Amino acid sequence: MLVVGAGQAGIAMSEHLTAQDIDHLVLERHRIAERWRTERWDSLVANGPAWHDRFPGLEFTEVGADEFASKDQVADYMATYAQTFHAPIRCGVEVTSVRRRESAPGFVAETSEGTVLARHVVAATGPFQKPVIPALVPESAGIHQLHSSDYRNPGQLPPGNVLVVGAGSSGVQIAEELQQSGRQVHLAIGPHDRPPRRYRSRDFVWWLGVLNKWEATAPSPDASHVTIAVSGAHGGRTVDFRDLAATGIHLVGRAEAYHDGTVRFADDLERNIAAGDANYLTLLHEADAYVERNGLDLPEEPEAHRLGPYPDCVTAPLRELDLAAAGITTILWATGFTVDYGWLQVDAFDERGRPQHERGVSSEPGVHFLGLPWQSRRGSSFIWGVWHDARHLAEHIAIQRAYLRYAPQQAAEDSTTTTQPSAV
Ligand SMILES: Cc1cc2nc3c(=O)[nH]c(=O)nc-3n(C[C@H](O)[C@H](O)[C@H](O)COP(=O)(O)OP(=O)(O)OC[C@H]3O[C@@H](n4cnc5c(N)ncnc54)[C@H](O)[C@@H]3O)c2cc1C
Repeated sequence: MLVVGAGQAGIAMSEHLTAQDIDHLVLERHRIAERWRTERWDSLVANGPAWHDRFPGLEFTEVGADEFASKDQVADYMATYAQTFHAPIRCGVEVTSVRRRESAPGFVAETSEGTVLARHVVAATGPFQKPVIPALVPESAGIHQLHSSDYRNPGQLPPGNVLVVGAGSSGVQIAEELQQSGRQVHLAIGPHDRPPRRYRSRDFVWWLGVLNKWEATAPSPDASHVTIAVSGAHGGRTVDFRDLAATGIHLVGRAEAYHDGTVRFADDLERNIAAGDANYLTLLHEADAYVERNGLDLPEEPEAHRLGPYPDCVTAPLRELDLAAAGITTILWATGFTVDYGWLQVDAFDERGRPQHERGVSSEPGVHFLGLPWQSRRGSSFIWGVWHDARHLAEHIAIQRAYLRYAPQQAAEDSTTTTQPSAV
């Protein structure tokens, strides 16, 4: 049994396979939890508090339960966790291809260190594998462009101002950091949700939990993706675009076109901010209703319902920005990621190359996915959520193995008796 990738998904998978007594090998091309170590910006902290963004069986020791672990603390936590059950992880081995074996059950994996045969394969290579940069500004524009996954800190950028495109968790945090470093930042804002960081003395992760929102199942595959603007930076504060504007960040609508040194923004800024506010207020109302229904003694917070006026940049939005005139030397794309399963050459993808699966069990028997966004629910790509999906997959694999172990009973036995494989 082969697990590809040793981020949180691969580790959780290994734990549950170990618990099911299933022999397996985890191959990781770099180090455990590499993305947390080297593929995120220096000041990143977890979006959720340490009591929540963790596996059930181990607490963070270096950070308080209500604090936000740094990216390195998350990576160290993963490495420690893997040690607790002696996860059979081999680092520094890249899986370059996986194909179904010919005339034999299972799969053949080619790796940087030779061939591996496996009856089952779990692709745990992450929900956010390949940076997406919209084809808007050509390289010939002569402006420095980078994706949020390549951003580390303000000192890395050439001198000058910055246009940050995308106002999810990455975009808002990076925009704030760049503005604080003394650069003028324009932030292009698309549709987003923005939950309150805390309300009535509870973090939003708690509210999403008790309101069953982490359990929400996937929106339709064609529903437009709405990013979440939430941050654990500076001890965790609600993302309110009014506050960002007050720091000097110039808010603009979705970047939609580029011509001859000028970026054009959609006429959607106020609509996007209003929809984000509505999402914020909806959660407050749902939380209030929950408190009342359950007779909870949580301090009221009426001021959280009062939102300030829109800043000028929202009421009179900039539709075009001449980059040179604004002193902008860098465009930072915080525009998300897509998956890349080029190495997995099996019949488990739809016509658009997306994994075809039911809770991670793919359309190709023996191939499984883990850690996909919305794999089974909203929580699936988060640290604690992937743990539950991994348990489901391990149980599924154990049942499959039981089927494969089945052999018909001797003819002497009662032919009317059916034998069911036992689930392990
Ligand atoms: C900026 C950012 C902040 C986030 N913050 C949080 C947070 O605060 N809390 C939270 O719960 N979630 C957070 N997430 C979401 C999620 O937890 C992370 O994306 C997490 O890294 C996903 O873990 P994973 O194991 O599924 O995938 P990854 O961490 O991407 O791990 C996949 C592993 O597979 C390896 N790999 C890939 N291809 C191959 C191959 N062919 N052969 C061998 N190895 C391979 C990679 O090197 C990698 O180590 C965040 C995501 C981002 C982008």
